[in-house]
Amino acid sequence: MSYTGRFAPSPTGPLHAGSLVAALASWLDARAHGGRWLVRIEDVDAPRCPPGLDALILSQLAACQLLPDEEPTWQSRRGALYQAALDRLVAGGHAYPCACSRSEIAQAQPARRHGELIYPGTCRQGLHGRPARAWRLRTDRAGPVTWHDRRLGAQQQDVAQAVGDFVLRRADGLWAYQLAVVVDDADQGVTDVVRGEDLADNTPRQLLLQRALGLPTPRYLHTPLVLGANGEKLSKQNGAQALALDDPAAALQAAARMLGLPEAAGTAAERLAQWAAAWPFV
Ligand code: GLU
Repeated sequence: MSYTGRFAPSPTGPLHAGSLVAALASWLDARAHGGRWLVRIEDVDAPRCPPGLDALILSQLAACQLLPDEEPTWQSRRGALYQAALDRLVAGGHAYPCACSRSEIAQAQPARRHGELIYPGTCRQGLHGRPARAWRLRTDRAGPVTWHDRRLGAQQQDVAQAVGDFVLRRADGLWAYQLAVVVDDADQGVTDVVRGEDLADNTPRQLLLQRALGLPTPRYLHTPLVLGANGEKLSKQNGAQALALDDPAAALQAAARMLGLPEAAGTAAERLAQWAAAWPFV
């Protein structure tokens, strides 16, 4: 079986206990399937990515013996691919330009979900002379999206109701995560996406984009989240500590515990081999 997996960190902060779980899970899944494992630096949101954090993350991964099988890639260098995909979506009638500012969308009194405004589709019918700001994907013709997660089981979301026509290229010219991730996973031949459960909610949007672009859909496995003392997901935003490089075996052991793996002994590399042999998701 040919298998390609990837770890795709956004270098907005160093690797921490939560992101290490996703990194470890994707590495183990690739090894357990005899596949290849890639690292992709998701730095499309350049203003939020301080210089040097990409190198720091790669060195943290290396200290944990999580070594990519190929040279890492950087999304900031792949804009031409995202533009070509957007051009195809526009040509196919799947994407359209939007002139609405955030305050205009808020004034239209759209529905909200998790505090986020659901775009009411104002510009679907054209810009009426207003200048284009962002580009959005049409979701109104899709119907409910069903998909299978290898850990969470059957999933369903009606993207039009839950999220609305979502942004592909932002008003500030930056590429949106949804478009970049779909284009890159397909371009790199990724067969299995293994990532944190906080991203599961994005999967239906990514499936719609894959369909609109005629790209294959990978398998998905969303891993358990590490919660901080406040019960919220551990993240850079709520001050997760950078992973210390002095005891990689202990950091890996803590991440492995989150994945329900047995205690292992020895160096980081030795423990990785034991967990790959015990990996339950094969
Ligand atoms: N770059 C995303 C993050 O760090 C992960 C994207 C993905 O794995 O699909 O949250």
